[in-house]
Amino acid sequence: MAKVLYNGDIQEEVLQGKKIAIIGYGSQGHAHALNLKESGFDVVVGLRPGKSWDKAVEDGVQVTTVAEATAQADVVMVLLPDELQPKVYEESIKPNLKAGDALVFAHGFNIHFNQIVPPADVDVFLVAPKGPGHLVRRTFTEGAGVPALYAVYQDYTGQAKDLALAYAKGIGSARAGVLQTSFQEETETDLFGEQAVLCGGTTALIKAGFETLVEAGYQPEVAYFECLHELKLIVDLLYEGGLEYMRYSISDTAQWGDFVSGPRVVNEETKARMKEVLKDIQTGAFAKGWILENQANRPQFNAINRAENNHPIEVVGRELRALMPFIKKPNQKKEVVVHG
Ligand code: NDP
Ligand code: MG
Ligand code: MG
Repeated sequence: MAKVLYNGDIQEEVLQGKKIAIIGYGSQGHAHALNLKESGFDVVVGLRPGKSWDKAVEDGVQVTTVAEATAQADVVMVLLPDELQPKVYEESIKPNLKAGDALVFAHGFNIHFNQIVPPADVDVFLVAPKGPGHLVRRTFTEGAGVPALYAVYQDYTGQAKDLALAYAKGIGSARAGVLQTSFQEETETDLFGEQAVLCGGTTALIKAGFETLVEAGYQPEVAYFECLHELKLIVDLLYEGGLEYMRYSISDTAQWGDFVSGPRVVNEETKARMKEVLKDIQTGAFAKGWILENQANRPQFNAINRAENNHPIEVVGRELRALMPFIKKPNQKKEVVVHG
């Protein structure tokens, strides 16, 4: 089994006395900044004036521009949206990095696909929590944490690995487990996971199930509860105890149906498609498409997004959720986005 590190395995002294700039204050940024601050580290947030800036001020963290935060800091964690990182890096981060600083990421995309090429005289590593930012924050306040991966891309000071581990401990991830990876493995597995299983695979499965029932004449409300709402309850069981515990909790009828019908829906052909998805990630074809889509101002992304938001499952879902006041209303897009 791979070596998983916990709080007791990690010395945080190497990060004490260093100034940490958190660039961005969104899903991940607010969680890293607040958790590190409460773990006793010296944090400054780098932003542009706007919504996040106001929120950071409200939360009582020190805020300044990206350029100034980078200039002040020894460790610079880049928590901007991946597609904006190269531009902000060139304009405001790179000119303010000094020899021996650490440039840090929560996802390997821009380094792995060469959209950011760091100078040779800085450490470059990643600390990637395996969960959405709002859970990185919430679990920390509850005394728990979200597991994280770390990887060293460039070790200029000889301390990159120790810094990465101390950082992971500071955000609370060593309460749950910290595991070594490479930029390549983190980038490719993260993209694959969100495309094939967590986000793309799940939304496609939900829609196909909903459409099958509705096209057969069943009520959309019933189809919504069956194929979407109840999924959370099943996922909670999977999270707590794996496939076995989930199957223990459901009826034997459901378990028998799981055994005989699951492999008819997700079969060898599905797996062959997953392999194609993985190949596109590995060859850079997916990255190229996403980079070009952003350069073209996202015409396809926006068109698909509009159509998806008008899917019948979304229409009926909005109506049903409005009648369930115990379901937390997302006040911000990111709170319902479990990409990660
Ligand atoms: P968000 O979109 O939630 O937040 C982005 C932040 O960047 C906002 O505070 C935004 O502020 C700020 N920002 C955007 N443009 C600029 C700019 N030009 N100058 C200064 N600040 C700017 O990002 P995420 O937290 O989702 O993602 C950050 C990184 O973490 C990515 O690398 C992602 O892959 C990775 N990651 C994300 C996970 C997640 O749970 N979301 C999980 C694991 C990794 P403003 O209000 O001004 O727009
Ligand atoms: Mg992820
Ligand atoms: Mg991701």
